[in-house]
Amino acid sequence: MTEPETLERRQLRELTRRFVTRDVLPHLDGWERAGEVPRALHGTAAELGLLGLGFPEAVGGSGGDLRDSLLVTEEVILAGGSSGLVAALFTHGIALPHIVAAWQRDGHPGPEPGSGPGSEPGTAAALVDRYVRPTLAGARIGALAVTEPDGGSDVAALRTTARRDGADYLVNGTKTFVTSGVRADFVTTAVRTGAPGAAGISLLVIDTDAPGCTVDRRLEKLGWHCSDTATLSFVDVRVPAGNLIGVENAGFAAIMRQFGTERLSLATQAYATAQRCLDLTVAWCRDRHTFGGPLIGRQVVRHRLAEMATRTAAARAYVRQVADRVAAGEPVPAEVAMAKNAAVSACDRVVDQAVQLHGGHGYLRDAEVERHYRDARILGIGGGTTEIMNEIIAKGLGI
Ligand SMILES: Cc1cc2nc3c(=O)[nH]c(=O)nc-3n(C[C@H](O)[C@H](O)[C@H](O)COP(=O)(O)OP(=O)(O)OC[C@H]3O[C@@H](n4cnc5c(N)ncnc54)[C@H](O)[C@@H]3O)c2cc1C
Repeated sequence: MTEPETLERRQLRELTRRFVTRDVLPHLDGWERAGEVPRALHGTAAELGLLGLGFPEAVGGSGGDLRDSLLVTEEVILAGGSSGLVAALFTHGIALPHIVAAWQRDGHPGPEPGSGPGSEPGTAAALVDRYVRPTLAGARIGALAVTEPDGGSDVAALRTTARRDGADYLVNGTKTFVTSGVRADFVTTAVRTGAPGAAGISLLVIDTDAPGCTVDRRLEKLGWHCSDTATLSFVDVRVPAGNLIGVENAGFAAIMRQFGTERLSLATQAYATAQRCLDLTVAWCRDRHTFGGPLIGRQVVRHRLAEMATRTAAARAYVRQVADRVAAGEPVPAEVAMAKNAAVSACDRVVDQAVQLHGGHGYLRDAEVERHYRDARILGIGGGTTEIMNEIIAKGLGI
């Protein structure tokens, strides 16, 4: 996206803006209070082709690549939505890619996904039919469960077990911080099928209506209020062995591969949140008068806005540059980590300054910058913390 935007992408931006203006903004405060977005919103976004972006048409997607889905993420926030809304509505962006990647690795043998009941049971094509296609159509909601109460950064230490029992796996354990976990119909779940450490981890798709699978708790949070987050408990949950994604004990690498996309999404949410807060703050500083003049007339205020704009622009340019490289198939995990940390750092500074320049009004629930200030705090924690990103960057430096 470092080249000038194509006509198609400008149209996608327009479409996203119309969707946010018409279908989100009148309701967002209510969803923040309700703690979730309605299922119907997924259907509306799917009809517009927004849910399917970045997924191949053969699995029910709308085509396009990572840059198209990042563009939608950016525009949702610039149009007055929020990173919380992105988390709630686009959770499939972290729940489905492992299934689609397994299907692609299979060279999609047998009937194409979407050809209906003909897809061989137990194949990735069958998982595409049951989970990917209806989710991209807005009819089902998926979530991703990796983190456990004992820890999230150290994925290789996870303790939820899946023991083979005849044609099924029996799953036992607890997952927490599951985005959309309260509403989810199915959860792409990281489980231990083998030895301790990274080499014993697999990914299983678990239907949330399976006996023994319960929402233990709806988590209350600092921000992302319209995004439901759950602790899920699994007690002897019977999962058909065909719900294994890819090969047994190869889950860790699959999780790490897909983290790149999630991190770029969070980086995009960070610079877009910064840009939205900058726009709101410039408008506020023009209108707000103190000591007989507008705030924007003070040099110290102008310089603060200039600094906010500079940080935001630098973050945007770098995140887009790294997104281009990832879309071109380059393995650049350290650069992805740098992009996330750079954008989160810019965002943290900008949302803080936006609230400060709004004065007391910036601290009120009805100020949009107040919501962004709270929502932004998760961006340096979710999808791998700032510290874990630094570890990846250091590894890239060979230290
Ligand atoms: C709102 C929200 C939504 C989320 N959504 C999901 C989801 O959908 N699915 C999912 O699986 N998870 C989800 N998460 C979990 C998230 O990915 C984890 O919170 C994150 O990975 C950190 O794990 P942790 O909270 O267990 O912290 P810990 O791993 O316990 O870390 C605690 C602190 O120690 C630091 N630390 C840890 N190890 C090191 C080290 N080696 N060196 C230096 N510092 C270190 C961390 O950076 C952090 O600051 C979500 C979390 C939140 C809050």
